[in-house]
Amino acid sequence: MNLRSRLRQLMLDFAATPPWKTSDGPLLSPAPLLREAPPSAPSSGGLPLDEELTRQCRQRLEELQMPGAAKLIAVVWNPRMRSTAGYAKYPAWRIELNPRLHEFEGQIQRTMLHELAHLVAYHRAGNRRIAPHGTQWRSACAELGIADESARHDLPLPQRQVRRRHLYCCPQCHHVIARVRKFARNTACKPCCVKHSRGRYDGRFRLVLLEVDPNSPQGEQARAQLAELARQALEHAPEEARD
Ligand SMILES: [Zn+2]
Ligand SMILES: [Zn+2]
Repeated sequence: MNLRSRLRQLMLDFAATPPWKTSDGPLLSPAPLLREAPPSAPSSGGLPLDEELTRQCRQRLEELQMPGAAKLIAVVWNPRMRSTAGYAKYPAWRIELNPRLHEFEGQIQRTMLHELAHLVAYHRAGNRRIAPHGTQWRSACAELGIADESARHDLPLPQRQVRRRHLYCCPQCHHVIARVRKFARNTACKPCCVKHSRGRYDGRFRLVLLEVDPNSPQGEQARAQLAELARQALEHAPEEARD
């Protein structure tokens, strides 16, 4: 019996407790085949540019001996952000900030440097894939004077109410992950890749989308169980990331 039918059977067994824990990650994706071409001029992506913050970032990049990046950097305000404090777009060299940061003392600067550290780390990594908040990001933070920065913010920004309707399962460890959208590309279970293939993406641990046929007689039951799994996964979801 293949994995999917085994999982379906498990989910159809109403009395059974799922043998896996649910959470929102961690995840690992294969390196993209093509990288976007780098921009040649600052890009605000149609969002209002903050001249002063852009100037501050430019100066920081010059201090880090990155004159090319200093020419490209743009800091903009994105009024569509809700629970996210800031976002770093690479290789566009654009930092997007949540206008609600104005309500919190010192947080505009803090978030801007957090995002700038992402751009610096991605740039230095070149084509190597790095963890968003890994060693490279941490050392860039230290160089930018925020050595104690953490990956996630604890600001009381409004939480996004989202439904994570797509459930994925690791074929190896049966970890279940709930997603709002389907993965755009193949994604593998990080703990299994770390354990069995030295942290590199390994197709053997590619997450399997759990699908239920709504027309089957048991479709209703299966959906109810999936809804329960999704609810648990949502409860165990981590705090919102700063980016
Ligand atoms: Zn796994
Ligand atoms: Zn971050």
